[in-house]
Amino acid sequence: MLTLNELKGYEGVLSETLIKSRMSEKTLEAMLKAIEKTLPEFRRYLKHKAKLLGHESSLPFYDMFAPINTNTLTYTYNEASDFVVKQFRTFSDELADFTTHAIRHNWIDVEPRSGKRGGAFCSNLHPIKQSRVLLNFDGSFSNLTTLAHELGHAYHGHCLKDETILNARYPMPIAETASIFCETIVVNAALKEADKENAIAILEASISDATQVIVDIYSRYLFETSLFKAREKQVLDSKQLQELMLKAQREAYGDGLDQTQLHPYMWLNKPHYYSAGLNFYNFPYAFGLLFSKGLYAQYLKEGESFVPKYNELLKATGKHNIKDVAAMAQVDSEDVSFYEASLQLVVEDIQKFIELTS
Ligand SMILES: [Zn+2]
Repeated sequence: MLTLNELKGYEGVLSETLIKSRMSEKTLEAMLKAIEKTLPEFRRYLKHKAKLLGHESSLPFYDMFAPINTNTLTYTYNEASDFVVKQFRTFSDELADFTTHAIRHNWIDVEPRSGKRGGAFCSNLHPIKQSRVLLNFDGSFSNLTTLAHELGHAYHGHCLKDETILNARYPMPIAETASIFCETIVVNAALKEADKENAIAILEASISDATQVIVDIYSRYLFETSLFKAREKQVLDSKQLQELMLKAQREAYGDGLDQTQLHPYMWLNKPHYYSAGLNFYNFPYAFGLLFSKGLYAQYLKEGESFVPKYNELLKATGKHNIKDVAAMAQVDSEDVSFYEASLQLVVEDIQKFIELTS
C-alpha cells in the first residue's frame, strides 16, 4: 500500500483515503478535534457502566457490550414495520410511502433461515430503481432499529434513482447519512414511549453503539496511523502490532477502561484491516454518525421545511464532495462546533442514562 501510494504520487496513505472519500483534511481535523474533546464524557459512561456491573475498578474491555438490564421490548415483524412506517410519517409522507411500497413489494428478506447468512444489509439496484434489504429479524428492539437503518439506505437509493449511474455512487463518509438518520427517528420515538427499564436499555444500546463508532474508531485511526508509520521502516510481528493496538486503546479509552484488560488483538478481529484496497476503514463511520446526528438536530430545529433540503442533499451525494453536500444544509463541515453539537446529543444521552441508573 505504501509503495503503491508512492508510485501513484499521493502524499501519503491518508491523503489517498481522503481523496477517495471526497473529504478535505480540514474536515477530518475538525472532526477529530471535537472527538478528542468529548472523550472524557465517554469515559464517564464507561466508568459508570463498570460500577453498574459490579467492577471495583474501571471496565474491562470484555464487558463493554455486557447488557445491564433485561430489555423486555419485543415485536412481531408486522408490529415493527408498522411502528417504523408510523414514525417515518412524522418526518415525511414520501419516506413513509416509500417504506410501505418496499414492504408490500417484498423488497425485504425478513426472517432468519437455515443456510441464510447472518447480519443485515441493503443493496440499491440503480438500473431497476429498486432496493433489496436483507434482515435476520428476531423481534428484538435492536432488530427494529436495523429495519429502520436499512430502509434508510434504501431511501437514499430512492433519492438517487433518477440520477445517471455515474452520479449515483456516494463516498463512504456519507454512505450512512440516511440510514442513521432513519434510525434516530425511530429510536427517539421509542424512547418517548418507553417505561424506565426500557428507556435504560434503549439509551444504553445507543450510547454503546456511539462509543464504538466514536471512541473505538478513534483508537483504530490512531492504530492505523502508527502502523503505516512503523511499516515504512520494517515488517511488524504480532508482538509489535499488539503494542501499537494497546497504545492506541490507552489513548482513546483513557481511564474509561481497565488498563490491564484491553484488547491487543483488535487488528486480528476486524476484517477491515485486511481489505487491501481500503485504508482507514474507520473514520468515515465516525463522520457518518456525527453528520447524520447534526442533520437530525437541524431537522428538530427547522421542522417540515428541512425535509425538501434533506432530499436534495441525499440526491447530491453521488456527485458533490462532502463540503458541498454539507453546505446544502448550511453546515460547514470544516467547523469543529458542528461536530461538537452532534456529540453533545450523545453527551445528553449519557447524562440521562447515568441519572436513570444512579
Ligand atoms: Zn448502514
